[in-house]
Amino acid sequence: MKSGAWWRGNGEEVEEFEKEFSAYHSCSGAIAVTNGTNALELALTALGIGEGDEVIFPAFTFLSTAIAILNVNAVPVPVDIDDMTFNISPKSVADAISNRTRAVIPVHMSGQMADMDALVKIAKTNSINIVEDAAHAQGASWRGLSAGSLGDAGTFSFQAFKLMTAGEGGAIVSTDLDLLEKLFLHGNCGRSKTDRHYNHTVLGSNYRMSEFQASILRTQLKRLDSQIEVRNENSHLLKRMFDGIDGVSLQEKDERVTRNPHYMVLFRYNSLSFNGLSRDRFVELLQSEGIPASVAYKAVHKTPLFQDANFEPRIRHSLGIDYRDVECPSSERLSSEGVWIHHSVLLGSEKHISQIADAILKIQYHCNLGRHLVGVLS
Ligand SMILES: *Cc1c(COP(=O)(O)O)cnc(C)c1O
Repeated sequence: MKSGAWWRGNGEEVEEFEKEFSAYHSCSGAIAVTNGTNALELALTALGIGEGDEVIFPAFTFLSTAIAILNVNAVPVPVDIDDMTFNISPKSVADAISNRTRAVIPVHMSGQMADMDALVKIAKTNSINIVEDAAHAQGASWRGLSAGSLGDAGTFSFQAFKLMTAGEGGAIVSTDLDLLEKLFLHGNCGRSKTDRHYNHTVLGSNYRMSEFQASILRTQLKRLDSQIEVRNENSHLLKRMFDGIDGVSLQEKDERVTRNPHYMVLFRYNSLSFNGLSRDRFVELLQSEGIPASVAYKAVHKTPLFQDANFEPRIRHSLGIDYRDVECPSSERLSSEGVWIHHSVLLGSEKHISQIADAILKIQYHCNLGRHLVGVLS
């Protein structure tokens, strides 16, 4: 603040953060931006993706993955997820490829990386790009390879819920120097780093991060490794507790994942084990027990935006897909059965972790007590 240099043009924090963040993810460079949604838009734009191009993504994700595709005027093609890992199903990706497909955006759900072996193979065979939506996956790795380094680009979010945050913020990493240059240009109103004469060369916009955000994020990056360790320990503990409770099953581990930073505790809830108590009511009761739980994302194609194809004024032509006809049964099922708990709880002590299990057991006990009483009374 006292330096007076609050803008990346005259400060050093953003550039230093970009160097540190890209090195941390074994990439050649990073471009720090306003947020994770803009990071996706910028990555698609720099890859030359636009009108008429199809981009495949998992139907179970935060809406931004799809918003970014629409905002570059491309066609979002939702595909289903795997029932165990909750990540995009490579087979569904292969089945959805057409001659208009230009890219796939795997989302590393809650920090567990998608099947990058299969996806890289599919992308190579079909000459399409991969943009990793790593909004949940700072510090994640697949067979020892960092999130963001396996696709053409990887995008991150630093919004308030995320594993590192400056309130808002985002970044794109890549191993491709040409692409990094394009990312800078398009994110800087179409102006190169050295231009001083207003020679704007491409249609870009302003996606720049401020020095304040970068300064906060540099400190957070230093803490990330130790926080991942604590979350990892606690998630093992939580897994053992969940294994002993009927009706809640955690996202399953893919053994090829070498590091999961644990963005959230994501699990499936079975109301049959709770005497028919609805998922939404279960989440409310967890909240009233002090557990920061939420319902899982709505499958993207089931949101009113997609059901009503409400894409104007940005998109006025037909996209050629009626999203009311799209079926992604596994994504839809997880949307209605899924519950997630914020990662901050995984930084707590063993006592805090037990409180989650205790809260679930308490709710279950009272549900089944209810059933018992109905039985007695009738
Ligand atoms: C948070 C999030 C984004 C968007 O990031 P913002 O910084 O909030 O714009 C994109 N994809 C996923 C999967 C996210 O969770």
